[in-house]
Formats: sequence, C-alpha cells, structure tokens
Amino acid sequence: MKRTEGVCIIVGAGHAGAQLAFSLRREGWVGAILLIGEEPGLPYQRPPLSKAALKAAGTIQVPLIYSAAAYEKAAITRMPDVRVVALDRPRKRALLANGQALAYDKLALCTGARARELALPCRALAGVHDLRTAADARAISAEVRPGGRAVILGAGYIGLETAAALRGLGMQVTVLEQGGRVLERVAAPETSAHFERLHAANGVDIRKHVQARELLGTGHIAQVLCSDGTLLAADLVVRGIGVVPNMTLAQEAGLAVGDGILVDEFAQTSDPDIVAAGDCAFHPNALLGFSLRLESIPNAVEQAKSAAASICGERKAYCAIPWFWSDQYDNHLQIAGLNRGHDRVVVQAGDSDEALTVWYIKDERVLAADCINSPKQFVRAKKLVASRAPVVEL
Ligand SMILES: Cc1cc2nc3c(=O)[nH]c(=O)nc-3n(C[C@H](O)[C@H](O)[C@H](O)COP(=O)(O)OP(=O)(O)OC[C@H]3O[C@@H](n4cnc5c(N)ncnc54)[C@H](O)[C@@H]3O)c2cc1C
Repeated sequence: MKRTEGVCIIVGAGHAGAQLAFSLRREGWVGAILLIGEEPGLPYQRPPLSKAALKAAGTIQVPLIYSAAAYEKAAITRMPDVRVVALDRPRKRALLANGQALAYDKLALCTGARARELALPCRALAGVHDLRTAADARAISAEVRPGGRAVILGAGYIGLETAAALRGLGMQVTVLEQGGRVLERVAAPETSAHFERLHAANGVDIRKHVQARELLGTGHIAQVLCSDGTLLAADLVVRGIGVVPNMTLAQEAGLAVGDGILVDEFAQTSDPDIVAAGDCAFHPNALLGFSLRLESIPNAVEQAKSAAASICGERKAYCAIPWFWSDQYDNHLQIAGLNRGHDRVVVQAGDSDEALTVWYIKDERVLAADCINSPKQFVRAKKLVASRAPVVEL
C-alpha cells in the first residue's frame, strides 16, 4: 500500500542520503524529511576530493550534490553538524549527540564509510591525513608545497589519484604498497602495469612490497620508517588504505549486519521501518549472483532510489551492473562490471598509445572490463557485461 505521510529521518547527508531525500519527494512522500549529517554544510560530491578539487591549488572547492535552494524548494530539512548517536527502535526515535530525541515513522541509514585506521605508532602527528571528507582535502591542500615530500600509504584508486594530484602540484611523491603491484585488489596485472608506467613517467616513486612501519617526527611528520628499513623524509603523509562501513548505529540497535548493514534488493534492513543505502549497505545483486557492499556513486544513487520507494511502500528492486571510474593525470579509467572470479583476461589495444581495454572473462563470457582512455569501449563494455556476452563478440 502506498504510504506518503509521517516523518522520515535520513541519517547521513552524503550522496546516498541526499539522493534518498529527493527521491522520496519524487515518490510522492508529503511528510517531513529530516536529513541529518555530522559534516558541516551542504552534501557534496566526494570523487573530486582526490581529483580535480585537490589538483586545483588553493582553497578546495567541492561541487554540491544539490543547491541550498533545491532543498528548500523540496521542503527537505537539513540538519548539518549533527551526529546521531543511537537509535531507540522500540520508541522509533533517533538520539542526537546534543541529547535531543527525534521521533520517526521511517528511518534511512546512509552512514557511508570511514577511512580504515592504520595501527602505527605516532599516528597523532600533524601532517598525516586520511582523504574522505572535504575537511581532509582542505587539510592536505594546506600542506602542499612545491618540492615538498609526500608519502602515500596504499596504491589503490584513492592513493594513486592523490599521488597524481600532488605530483601535478609539484610535490615529490612516494607511494608505499604492501602488495606486489598497484591496484592489486581490484584490477588485472595488465591494468596495474599501465598505471605503474604512467606514474613512473610522471616521476612518482612506487615502492612495492613495502609498508610504513612507523611515522616519526616531533609534533609534525618528518620521516616514514618503512618495513624494508628505509627511512623516507616526509612533509606530508596521506593514508589510502581503504574504508570500513559505518554500521555501529545499526549494530547497536540490533539490526542485522555483516560487512555492512544487511539489506535486501529493496534496501530494506531487518527492521521494516528502516532502510539503508550506499557505502554502508551490504546487498544482494541478482545479476551478479551474490551479495556485496559497493563504494561508488552509481551504487549510492541507485540504491537510494530503491530505498525511497520502499519507504513509500513501493517495491523497486536495486539490481544494476556496478561501474566505477578513476582519473589520474590525463588518463581516464572506466570500469564496467565486477571482475571477481574471472578465469582469464583479454587485452585489446585502443586507437592511441594510451588507450587499452582489459576484458575479464569467466566461462567464456564477459564479466567486466577496465577501459583506459576508451570511452566508446566503456559504452560497449556495459552492454556486453549486462548481457554476459560470449567472448567471440569482443
Ligand atoms: C576521495 C574519494 C574519491 C572517490 N572517488 C570516486 C569515484 O571516482 N567514483 C565513484 O563512484 N566513487 C568514488 N568515491 C566513493 C564515493 O564517494 C562513495 O561511494 C559515496 O560518497 C558513498 O556515498 P554514501 O552517501 O553512501 O556515503 P558517504 O559519502 O560516506 O556519506 C555518509 C555521510 O554520513 C555521515 N554520517 C555517518 N554516520 C553518521 C551519524 N551517526 N550521524 C550523522 N551523520 C553520519 C558521514 O559523516 C557522511 O557525511 C570516492 C570517495 C572518496 C573519499
């Protein structure tokens, strides 16, 4: 039965939270919508934090997801700088850090993820940063000095994008990667090799099979002691070692959790009045045939739409082929599908030296593709992955 009245509280004003608020109105919700987020200001886009926004020297400007006027027009009440500390499910209340309790009829958890902690001595040194929020990006930007020495911990997408941005700002950059190649967790050796070459050509020093063992300095970072015994001078350290889902609220309120808040294909948690969407939600994907948690904008947006429909009593399953992107220097990587479980790869050169497509194959069918500087191949790849096309169609 269609439901459109009552109070809906959205916890977390990131991409999923903002999308959910507007999608709720589009679904016809006429009741109150409270969008509560612990960060200051308006919800903004995170991807530029390690790309264009960081590259542009000076004050970090991040694009907003929606303008202030749009929230006003849609009668969405924003509550920035407010942390929800607990859920009282029996009385259907969200408890805020300031001691206030807000009643809800429906609640959405869009709490996202936070940077994974690195258990190292002297973590409290100034000059050591994560990169998750606009505040983090601003803090990093404030420490950028041409000729200064930056050490990036982790050669995943965020670590590599940050390396490219800092290099572009004239810093000397070293990346420490505990694995044997960059992007090891997410990409084939052929994709890794492309990005290793790209970074080397731009003067980034990538050290593989090396971890930070200790961060040294008096008040401010000065050196990184590496697992191979090397001591690197450092003016700035950026940790890019992954994220963990924010699910403490859900867990403490007794909702089912695993690697994230467990939801079904309609973004419904184990409580019929609570949905979850975005980086925090572990969800089934019928196209892939397994459940997973994704950290991407397309996931946050599309899952939030399903969650909004569920709140209104509609059933719109979230079921999409995942896709991602990464920008490093002037290279644009677009990824269609998930390569998990592939049994071989097929590499196709593109029409320029810098263009490459790496196809991931399972049982002779297309599972995923990394399209480097190949936007047309990406459009094809999305179709081939969705139709699980046989390899002969490549
Ligand atoms: C540097 C960077 C680059 C990225 N690049 C890309 C990219 O190129 N492509 C791509 O697809 N994705 C990228 N991502 C990932 C993408 O930004 C995330 O997948 C997306 O932001 C997830 O949205 P979300 O709303 O689920 O979570 P978030 O954006 O993390 O938002 C969650 C919000 O909830 C708040 N919150 C949590 N708990 C509480 C609480 N108890 N009370 C109040 N507020 C709370 C958090 O502070 C946060 O503001 C990038 C992320 C980062 C950090």
